[in-house]
Amino acid sequence: MRAEPLIFELSKPGRQGVSMPPLDVPEAELPAELCRDSLPLPEVSEIDVIRHYTRLSQLNHAVDIGFYPLGSCTMKYNPKINELAARLPGFAQIHPLQDEATVQGALELMYELQHYLAEISGFDTVTLQPAAGAHGELTGILIARAYFASIGDTGRTTVLVPDSAHGTNPATAAMAGYKVVTIPSDARGNVDIERLRAAVGPDTAALMITNPNTLGLWDENIDEAIRIVHEAGGLVYNDGANFNAILGIARPGDLGFDIMHFNLHKTFSTPHGGGGPGAGPVGVKQHLAPFLPGPVVTRHEGETPEYRWSWPERSIGKIHSFHGNFGMHVRAYTYIRMHGAEGLRQISEDAVLAANYLQARLRDRYHIPYDRPCMHEFVASAVRQKQHGVRALDIAKRLLDFGVHPPTIYFPLIVDEALMIEPTETESIETLDYFIDAMRQIADEAERNPEYVHSAPHETFFKRLDEVRANRQLNLRWVPPTDAQEAAAD
Ligand SMILES: *Cc1c(COP(=O)(O)O)cnc(C)c1O
Repeated sequence: MRAEPLIFELSKPGRQGVSMPPLDVPEAELPAELCRDSLPLPEVSEIDVIRHYTRLSQLNHAVDIGFYPLGSCTMKYNPKINELAARLPGFAQIHPLQDEATVQGALELMYELQHYLAEISGFDTVTLQPAAGAHGELTGILIARAYFASIGDTGRTTVLVPDSAHGTNPATAAMAGYKVVTIPSDARGNVDIERLRAAVGPDTAALMITNPNTLGLWDENIDEAIRIVHEAGGLVYNDGANFNAILGIARPGDLGFDIMHFNLHKTFSTPHGGGGPGAGPVGVKQHLAPFLPGPVVTRHEGETPEYRWSWPERSIGKIHSFHGNFGMHVRAYTYIRMHGAEGLRQISEDAVLAANYLQARLRDRYHIPYDRPCMHEFVASAVRQKQHGVRALDIAKRLLDFGVHPPTIYFPLIVDEALMIEPTETESIETLDYFIDAMRQIADEAERNPEYVHSAPHETFFKRLDEVRANRQLNLRWVPPTDAQEAAAD
């Protein structure tokens, strides 16, 4: 691919991509505080803009381009009908400050989505406000804190988190003012139940646990773990990032969890967007419902039912401006309605089948540290390849040459050289086989020609990046070169 000039470099004074219609209203002065003398935007034509953004999109990987088995993130295909629904003018063009009477359809959709999520998960009420899983975690733990404060139980200062947890769990607990105690996993990848028992006490506010866990395994001790924490008066939080494995099969609310977040951008096919427009609704049991962030949509029966905003009695307050990422609510609602109850179950069954198929066909070439039937993802390890000097990072880079996004690597932290693979239910058997062949070929290369893997990728526009520099000196913004730099370049 040719390195094209950046759009800023194409700028020519006076060139433009739009022509405004002639003014048909009297000209008026803009308020001075809204005006700037100089705004260094490039002056370019429409085709320049289109080529610039199309080219940028081609430099990225995306689920619409190729396989994306990024473990824990559930990079499933985002059906385009979701986009169609979200762009309906009645949804796309409303304003969050509009009077309730004028947005009954939108409120009804939110109410129904709250209800569907509650039904699918076994919780009593749901808030749609949080904008991401991590944001949902914070919401959930703040609810737990408010609950204990309301019953005068002020001695609960600790949150327990298994060592396989996502980093957002301990971060959330710490942000909410709790001391974090890490609970190790046992040899089968479950939370170590004896260590949990020893750690639980009158100071336990909550256990935050991911089930199925980040090893892609159903925690075989989950009932016992929940019982131990409840008997000590604590609450149990389910990190629902892996909900895609159990839709229509198991309901976390029925298992005894008190709180759970959903990642609509994982389980319910709304786009993951550059850290932006996610949605992390939170479900709670009845005893915690009064503490939900407000406002929530409630339904009032009458000749025609009416939907209104209302505030839970002891609400922790707002956790997002307005009502959360409404466009994502429309997409998730569409997805749920498209599939129905049986379709949702099928999604999970297919996701689990795909992951087990990959695990079964890769286990002779890659070490599987916790080798038992997995849920919707599994964790392999590159320890065998490491003997030849090839690490998980090298395998990830080499996969780019096959047009495949790498799996999650070096997570969970308890697996050496982890490769966390999540195929999702949306991939065909041909794609899964292609990935298997690629992984097997890379295992061969690691033995015969480790240097080739070590220096990958070979086919991509950018080759191996300096990861440390990319992390420490993240550079996402074009800055005009100084005169001195330009002179030096000439
Ligand atoms: C993705 C994920 C989170 C965080 O969710 P975001 O929506 O990315 O904030 C938390 N826990 C686990 C296990 C996850 O996979």
